[in-house]
Amino acid sequence: MPKITVDSSLCVGCGLCETNCPEVFKMKDDGLAYVISESCKTHNLKEVSEQCPVTAIKIE
Ligand code: SF4
Repeated sequence: MPKITVDSSLCVGCGLCETNCPEVFKMKDDGLAYVISESCKTHNLKEVSEQCPVTAIKIE
């Protein structure tokens, strides 16, 4: 199973990842995105990661 991470030093808090896949990404009170699940049956996580404007989402 791939390991999904958000680099909090890069994330600008745009919220796009949570909009695209709320199963995996959640915006928290500090304004940054966090990974709350490692997988999603509905969304293509590679595409979600590619849409991050600052390429903060890594899938390994
Ligand atoms: S899409 Fe990227 S910059 Fe925007 S909230 Fe998600 S991780 Fe942060």
